Amino acid sequence: MKQLLLDGAKELGINLTETQLNQFMMYKSLLQEWNEKMNLTAITEDREVMTKHFLDCMTIQKAIDMNTQKTVIDIGTGAGFPGLVIKIAFPHLELTLVDALKKRLTFLEEVINQLGLKGIKCIHSRAEDLGKNKAYREGFDICASRAVANLAVLSEYTLPFVKIDGYLMALKGQKIEEELEQGKKAIKILGGQLEEVIHAGVPFTELDHKIAKIRKVKPTATKYPRKAGEPTKAPLG
Ligand code: SAM
Repeated sequence: MKQLLLDGAKELGINLTETQLNQFMMYKSLLQEWNEKMNLTAITEDREVMTKHFLDCMTIQKAIDMNTQKTVIDIGTGAGFPGLVIKIAFPHLELTLVDALKKRLTFLEEVINQLGLKGIKCIHSRAEDLGKNKAYREGFDICASRAVANLAVLSEYTLPFVKIDGYLMALKGQKIEEELEQGKKAIKILGGQLEEVIHAGVPFTELDHKIAKIRKVKPTATKYPRKAGEPTKAPLG
């Protein structure tokens, strides 16, 4: 499993050390162990955790050089995807993990403690509530997010956190063109601009995922995000 991860990461331009490989192995074991007590993921088989979770999240490096970034926020991180994977691969980053479900944060805190990771904040909040907090608003180089909402809704959850000239990196599947079409007005309203769609094939799989790289070009108006639940009830655009 370690060799698979080492080779896959290399293919994505990431050279993992023995310490990082061991951290990923420990993360995998904790995920499998905790998943028996609580619903964290449907992907539990060793090889699939390596490819569909760890390598999938590392494809971000194909879209932006994480070595040159400082602050990352992951909205709707669940069991730490993509944020915690990115942090293990790029330990210099300051990471904020956000999820609306408390039990997922309890799991994440355990992983962070066991792996001895530093420079991570775990926040139990809905994106719409935290997005109003001045301490977090427009404070991050990168917002990375996977499998949380369609782009119209996701932009309202995430763009308020991104600094001007920073990026929302939305890890997506095949249907991205349709989502971009539906989400383009929302992205503009919230101060974003689509820069590129990057093909992000996941090593050792058939998965041809895509990453929407959205640059923050203007501040987000203070009326966004709207109150909790509104973005999904009435997506912008
Ligand atoms: N990003 C992870 C992944 O790719 O495996 C988890 C995806 S899971 C399908 C969606 C996660 O987003 C859940 O953990 C859920 O609690 C969280 N979530 C959904 N809406 C949210 C919101 N408005 N604010 C914060 N978290 C939210």
